[in-house]
Amino acid sequence: MNSYHNLTLNWLYLDINSYFATVEQHYNPSYRNKPLIVVPLDSDTTCAIAASIEAKKLGVKTGTNVGEAKRMIPDLICVKSNHDKYRNYHHRILKEIDKHIYVDDILSIDECAGRLTGKFQLKQNAVELAYKIKKGITNNIGDNIKCSVGIAPNRFLAKIATEIEKVDGLVVLEGSDLPKKLYSLNLRSLTGIGASTYTRLISNGINSVESLCSKDASFLKRAFGNIYGEKYYYLLRGYNVPEEKKDTQSIGNSQVLPPEMRNSENAYDIARKLLLTATSRLREKEFYANGMNLELSLVNKSIVKNYQKLNSLCDDFSLGDKMKFMWHTLTNNQTNLNIKKVSIILVNLTKQRNDQLALFDNSTDCNLKEKNKLEQISKLMDEINKKEGKSIVSLGMARNKNEQAEAIAFSSI
Ligand SMILES: [Mg+2]
Repeated sequence: MNSYHNLTLNWLYLDINSYFATVEQHYNPSYRNKPLIVVPLDSDTTCAIAASIEAKKLGVKTGTNVGEAKRMIPDLICVKSNHDKYRNYHHRILKEIDKHIYVDDILSIDECAGRLTGKFQLKQNAVELAYKIKKGITNNIGDNIKCSVGIAPNRFLAKIATEIEKVDGLVVLEGSDLPKKLYSLNLRSLTGIGASTYTRLISNGINSVESLCSKDASFLKRAFGNIYGEKYYYLLRGYNVPEEKKDTQSIGNSQVLPPEMRNSENAYDIARKLLLTATSRLREKEFYANGMNLELSLVNKSIVKNYQKLNSLCDDFSLGDKMKFMWHTLTNNQTNLNIKKVSIILVNLTKQRNDQLALFDNSTDCNLKEKNKLEQISKLMDEINKKEGKSIVSLGMARNKNEQAEAIAFSSI
């Protein structure tokens, strides 16, 4: 029996194409139809945080090193990012969309979704509505502002539908289109499949969306390594089940030191590494940490531990500072401690998107602005490290002189 049965269209999802770059092109019409990237600072060693549709066509995307991008596209326009502008447009665009459909969820600065009700659940009416929204945005906000709209039985598939046609797209996924219409996508472009889940899927023999769709719920639960895999089965089939992964309560790890390394200095280095791994996983899973546990097991079998409450943090710099403070409190600046095991756990995790919107709404607050900046830089570091496949850069916890120079450069923007 086909599990993709008679499904009604329940959600419309909208994603503005190349958002930051598009807004810059809107502000400066001479930039329109030209390859452009948005950069966090004036430096060829940093990387693009957004690329215009024209730049993407030439192979430059988010995360591309600026120097490399300039070599690839000699007449590339580089614009320094300006969050106030992007926030302002976010509100203007939302106001326009709200004229046509009630916006149930704001997923990020350039993505939102609304439920389809009544006559709009019929394909033809839903498509007409999508065109009206697109026209409203181009007529009333900016004629260069394009979006991809996805219409589907659940929000999850509606978002995936926006991935199918990337520029000015409009894709409807009905029961009869599933699962075939998803096969052109890469596994990694699906919501909820981050780097670690992707690795797990590959090692379970799932290397395409087609093979993902062919597996049953219990196989996916095993392959994902948690209950989300089972939910994923139903999400792909259009069921309206809660999407959020509820299984992540904490992120962290511990490490035992080899006998010859059991001193405070080495232990602190290990703690730093453990923290950096945890913070990048935290960002990958789009969480903030609201608490941190630091625990040291000493060779004499005693355990010392410390808990620090945090105010929704995810950047390397602030978390590194907190950890350093906790470390000094815990070790009382003694350098002769025999430390056998170090453990760092980030706890009381909350999803990032709610807080993120609060950030955009409170841009007059200098602390929030600074926090947002540090998060952007940390995320940028993640992009670079992901691209290089290893940790080549980190922020704020520098130890040797070269690293320190880099950290200062990044934190002074
Ligand atoms: Mg977008």
